[in-house]
Amino acid sequence: MEAPRKGKLALPTRILLGLLLGAAAGVTLNLLLEPGSPSHGFVAGFDANVAYPIGRLFLNLLFMVVVPVVFCSLFLGVAGLGSLQTLGRLGGRTLLWFLGTTVIAVLLGLFLVHTVQPGRRIDPEAAQKVQARYAKDAAARIDQGKQASAFTVDSLVALVPTNVVEAAADNKKILGLICFALLLGAAATRAPPERTQVLRQLLQSVYELCVRVLGWAMQLAPYGVAGLIFHATFGLGFDIMKLVLWYFGTAMAPLVIHQLVVITALAWGFAGVRPGRFYRGCKALIVTAFSTSSSNATMPTTIRTATDEFGAPAEVAGFVIPLGATMNMNGTALFEGVSVLFLAQVAGIELGFAQQVLVLGLTVLTAIGAAGVPGGSLPLLAVVLTYVDVPPEYMALILGVDRLVDMTRTVPNVTSDLVCSLWLSRRLGAQLRP
Ligand code: ASP
Repeated sequence: MEAPRKGKLALPTRILLGLLLGAAAGVTLNLLLEPGSPSHGFVAGFDANVAYPIGRLFLNLLFMVVVPVVFCSLFLGVAGLGSLQTLGRLGGRTLLWFLGTTVIAVLLGLFLVHTVQPGRRIDPEAAQKVQARYAKDAAARIDQGKQASAFTVDSLVALVPTNVVEAAADNKKILGLICFALLLGAAATRAPPERTQVLRQLLQSVYELCVRVLGWAMQLAPYGVAGLIFHATFGLGFDIMKLVLWYFGTAMAPLVIHQLVVITALAWGFAGVRPGRFYRGCKALIVTAFSTSSSNATMPTTIRTATDEFGAPAEVAGFVIPLGATMNMNGTALFEGVSVLFLAQVAGIELGFAQQVLVLGLTVLTAIGAAGVPGGSLPLLAVVLTYVDVPPEYMALILGVDRLVDMTRTVPNVTSDLVCSLWLSRRLGAQLRP
């Protein structure tokens, strides 16, 4: 990351400032202005035409580089491993990490909801009000959810795309692109080096240029983030905030615990990185994940953090992190589990042991299939809810604060990828930067 000019605040600080100012303005105006009044209309117009578009522009800039970065880094990562044997060893451990950490996250979330029972502390009248407010939104998610299936035989077959261009064109089919990049990279390890050299250099250049573009996009981050958070908080009524506070707390607590306790311990135990050092190196990464709510958009920053801050070899980071950005979602799985249990409690539905085991399995698998974009897991949450007979309409209760929960769950989503890459780097004999 570029050093700030004299007198100018560092980028992460400016992003954080944008976040705080945007949130403060959004909440204050929401509380002060009467819906339907001319001044409320004026601010709503400002939100729709200025604040939110700036936020979306920033997000679009980030998404723009995702496909080339995923493709180039996976191809270069696998091709750079040298042999299929190394790839196999690395791949197995990577998947084991993804599954293991995701299961721990969900168990932690389920345990907390059981203990606190937040869904039983809600005023049913207020719950109905919120449902009415979000009914349309929830219905749209339910439709998407019906289309987006959890892991079935068909979705496993669909992991191998029939048309790689189509896979690249749809964020939800990015696993297909990953599959293609992995296979092409594996093929490159078998071809004579002189036959793949030009392609490797070309993709390396594309990758480096994309990362440069990302650097420019990040300069816009303080304004983009302010716009996004303003949009989220201005639309959120205080009634709703009060009502879902229980949910919010119960979703946030295990996410924060998972990040601060589990991920920190894993970084120390598996990668040998002490907590102070870990968080010093992760500052920009955490702020980016939090402000963009997107593992995909954060991925280049995750790679840069692994290589530049911690000294992980580029081949390992380039292999593990793009894969993790779409497949390894600790925070998302935890959030899904907590939300399903919470909404079941609100609906007065008692989930037995077997159903909770089902929730565990479904959340782990759907988190793998969720797109690493803001709200990427919401359609899949609708699927899990229907599996355990909780009417998905109840999702209306949590949509109001989902953006904030999404921002928070994206942090362990990406830090788990980072730690996995550091662990594997160490196992392959790399010296991490002290
Ligand atoms: N926003 C999350 C991510 O990109 C996905 C989700 O949980 O909705 O990692």
